[in-house]
Amino acid sequence: MATQIAKKIVVVGGGNSAGYFARAVVAAGRGADLLICSAEEVLPYERPALTKAFLNETGPARLPGFHTSVGGGGERQNQEWYDANGVEVHLGTRVVAWDPSAKTVTTDKSTSIGYEKLVVAIGCTALKLPASMGGDLPGVHYVRDNADALSLYDAMAGAKAPVVIGGGEFFFIFVWEIRLTTSCFVHRASTVPPCTAPRFGSGVRTITTRNRRRCWDPPVHPRTLTSPPSD
Ligand SMILES: Cc1cc2nc3c(=O)[nH]c(=O)nc-3n(C[C@H](O)[C@H](O)[C@H](O)COP(=O)(O)OP(=O)(O)OC[C@H]3O[C@@H](n4cnc5c(N)ncnc54)[C@H](O)[C@@H]3O)c2cc1C
Repeated sequence: MATQIAKKIVVVGGGNSAGYFARAVVAAGRGADLLICSAEEVLPYERPALTKAFLNETGPARLPGFHTSVGGGGERQNQEWYDANGVEVHLGTRVVAWDPSAKTVTTDKSTSIGYEKLVVAIGCTALKLPASMGGDLPGVHYVRDNADALSLYDAMAGAKAPVVIGGGEFFFIFVWEIRLTTSCFVHRASTVPPCTAPRFGSGVRTITTRNRRRCWDPPVHPRTLTSPPSD
């Protein structure tokens, strides 16, 4: 038998939007009306930090240091903040069913949550390389959430010649943050022009220029790529 809960406002997803939405609801004096249901095990946080201060070699940012609303200049929304404002948060809980006519969602913990207003803020997932190209092999990392970034950070400690696939903003931030100026071989699998760097400062332009030859004609990692994209 499913546990029954009812709240006026229910948010599915516990990411950036949920965190700032909670801030606005609390500011309106309605924290006790709100329930957030998040698949992640940690409270809403500033996701952009995952590819920035999170990757610093020394003193990397870690939760609870970058919970919302730190990035927006507000109070850090830690567990005490949610408790003090009456907001109910269910972590590690995924919504698996939605019945709009009954105005309920059901979680993977067999909880049925009734609502008056539903906010769906489930973000998106990272594009993955097909398994046929090695996308599921050990040592291939995707960065979407806190757990992914922790795993990548640990892997970087022993990395010898990492390959970054993609030539967008993440590439520049990644190289800049981890200081991979001598061992970073990059396969550009993106059609986005690679030189979007100026906004990141002259240091990144220098890295890009220095590695350019290797960037555009890279050794393809034999374990992860069998046939490079044609662009
Ligand atoms: C590594 C990285 C770096 C970024 N850097 C920047 C940047 O520098 N500047 C910028 O403007 N933007 C950046 N972004 C984009 C920005 O983080 C997103 O636009 C923002 O997080 C979107 O917020 P959201 O709440 O819609 O989704 P998300 O923050 O992705 O949150 C969605 C949440 O919903 C949860 N969820 C999914 N399905 C369910 C379900 N069925 N039940 C319960 N919970 C569920 C997920 O686990 C997740 O916690 C970055 C994104 C990433 C991944």
